[in-house]
Amino acid sequence: MLISKEQISLSYARSLDEKDELKSFRDRFHLPLQKNGEPYVYLCGNSLGLQPKQTEEALIQELKDWKNLGVEGHFHAKNPWMPYHEFLTKAMANVIGAKPAEVVVMNTLTVNLHLMMVSFYRPSKERHKIIIEADAFPSDKYAAESQIRMHGFDPSTSLVELKAREGEVCLRNEDIKAVIEEHGNSIALIMLGNTNYYTGQYYNIPEITKWGHAQGAFVGFDCAHGAGNVQLDLHNSGCDFAVWCNYKYLNAGPGGMGGAFVHERHHQNKNIPRFEGWWGHNKETRFKMRDAFEPIPSVEAWQLSNPPILAMAAVWSSLKLFEEAGMDRLRKKADKLTGFLELLVNSLGDEVINIITPSNPSERGSQLSIQVRKADKALFDKITAEGVIADWREPDVIRVAPVPMYNSFEDVFNFYTILKNALN
Ligand SMILES: *Cc1c(COP(=O)(O)O)cnc(C)c1O
Repeated sequence: MLISKEQISLSYARSLDEKDELKSFRDRFHLPLQKNGEPYVYLCGNSLGLQPKQTEEALIQELKDWKNLGVEGHFHAKNPWMPYHEFLTKAMANVIGAKPAEVVVMNTLTVNLHLMMVSFYRPSKERHKIIIEADAFPSDKYAAESQIRMHGFDPSTSLVELKAREGEVCLRNEDIKAVIEEHGNSIALIMLGNTNYYTGQYYNIPEITKWGHAQGAFVGFDCAHGAGNVQLDLHNSGCDFAVWCNYKYLNAGPGGMGGAFVHERHHQNKNIPRFEGWWGHNKETRFKMRDAFEPIPSVEAWQLSNPPILAMAAVWSSLKLFEEAGMDRLRKKADKLTGFLELLVNSLGDEVINIITPSNPSERGSQLSIQVRKADKALFDKITAEGVIADWREPDVIRVAPVPMYNSFEDVFNFYTILKNALN
């Protein structure tokens, strides 16, 4: 790719920051500091998002209400705990592109993945396979394999892995389609990580859903790396379910709560079983405690326990920032930010680096996975010492995610400069 000298300069990066209408959001986050007092170049928001400054106050509010009100806080806290999860629903639905009734913040990601598989993976002798990516996140693979075994099947015959072609890293759409057609009505469930945590590839949700449904399979997505990153548009895509965590692009804090989406077509379907608990029961009669289970006619029926308010306060605090910034604007900035990073990194030359993330902006989010030829972890340690926080995957891949909420074009430029110097 051609790149002009002018674009490879700190002043050009700063001029892009000047024009950025979201630039004020950076100030609303705590940036981790180096020993010299300078902020790190933090490009790890795909792993753990930074802390919004307003989150501390949100947590203190709940501690205060608990201190002063005890159990009465369920009704009389500033933000009453009884309906607390509902305060998050609309903003969460906007982030992932769903109707409010289809979205709930609950549990953590892998727990939600299991709960969804309880409902949407019910294998029979003829239809027992789960399709996942060969390089799926380990937790997703463990979850799928254990579900298969729990139903008395064998992962060696029931787990189908989508592999990239020889010499390639990302999956081709036509190959995904071919595997789905090949396994046809033996597929019970297709479940992909979207975007893929390793390559950063964003799979086409509507198409994969259509191909899966044509074979009579359910189709779900683990959007750990998608939520708050790409425009998922889950409702219109027609997929059956999705799960995600809120601590990556969504800045809800370490081990923060996850989310779940169940398409509205399944909400009242009595043929879809689920694990049930009191928080999924009709809110009007929940505390009578004697009635038979009467599900809330929404994804809330999948809730089990009364939720951890402190953890949920952190999710809500972050969602408020997403409401202010808006996914449209975030996505627009992200395209520019990642495009700038791509331009700079590619200028280092093909002999040195190879970006394995798709170059087509509609097939990726913020993350670029940069393979550094002939490098080992010493290179990564070097850039870390120079003030970059990124992520290293053996044998030779650096994952960086400039996130539009708080990263700047200057961050991207500084990363490039540090990487270039470390390579020399
Ligand atoms: C981050 C991530 C997880 C982590 O799961 P937890 O249950 O939140 O610990 C699982 N799957 C994918 C694809 C991830 O990116």
